[in-house]
Amino acid sequence: MIKENYLNIIENINQACKNAGRDSSTVRLVAVSKTKPVDVIREAIQLGLKDFGENKAQELKSKVAQITNDITWHFIGHLQTNKVKDVVPVAEYIHAVDSIKLAKEINKRALKIEKKQKILLEINTSLEASKFGLIDESEIMETALFCANAENLNLVGLMTMAPYTGEEKILRNCFIKLRSLKEKLNKEGFNLTELSMGMTNDYKIAIEEGATMIRIGTALFGERNYQG
Ligand SMILES: *Cc1c(COP(=O)(O)O)cnc(C)c1O
Repeated sequence: MIKENYLNIIENINQACKNAGRDSSTVRLVAVSKTKPVDVIREAIQLGLKDFGENKAQELKSKVAQITNDITWHFIGHLQTNKVKDVVPVAEYIHAVDSIKLAKEINKRALKIEKKQKILLEINTSLEASKFGLIDESEIMETALFCANAENLNLVGLMTMAPYTGEEKILRNCFIKLRSLKEKLNKEGFNLTELSMGMTNDYKIAIEEGATMIRIGTALFGERNYQG
């Protein structure tokens, strides 16, 4: 089941890369394993998946303790400052940094364990009130500057969540916005390489618009059961 899904996703990634004239090695598939048991993660590791994304600090911590394979963990969810201490020791990437306050706390915790923490800034490209992320350009610039100058942070890119819609134009606009913002920041002297964008519903479009990390749960593992 997972194998079939996985092969299907790989095919779609290759096709989207072809459409965009990109090399498929430039797209990293982050398997979003939130709510899924460790057995399922082990199965995915057997298939060759190496990147896993979680959005709850406790769940991440518990899974990292149970899975000893050499894989890369991504924290993709909204992070509260009081949970930072649990996430920094185990996450290679923290995707959704959306305030200086949070960045400060990550920097502080990373310093304690002598780590340079890779982070991405979350941008609210859809302007939906229900979504997290920075909107205001001067605030984005200020936050990016803080992160770039923080000794124990490595600001590698930007992340966004598009709205849940079937309207391609709306989705594509969000991804174009994120890519343009990255280009703009790099013109200002930043060195951002990553665009974390694209989920089950929209990853093909995200790849066409330059995604370097796609975060896929449902298309790989099936529907999530939050009751369990
Ligand atoms: C759950 C989640 C995903 C994966 O969503 P799917 O639609 O199941 O692929 C991606 N990104 C974030 C931030 C998530 O919380």
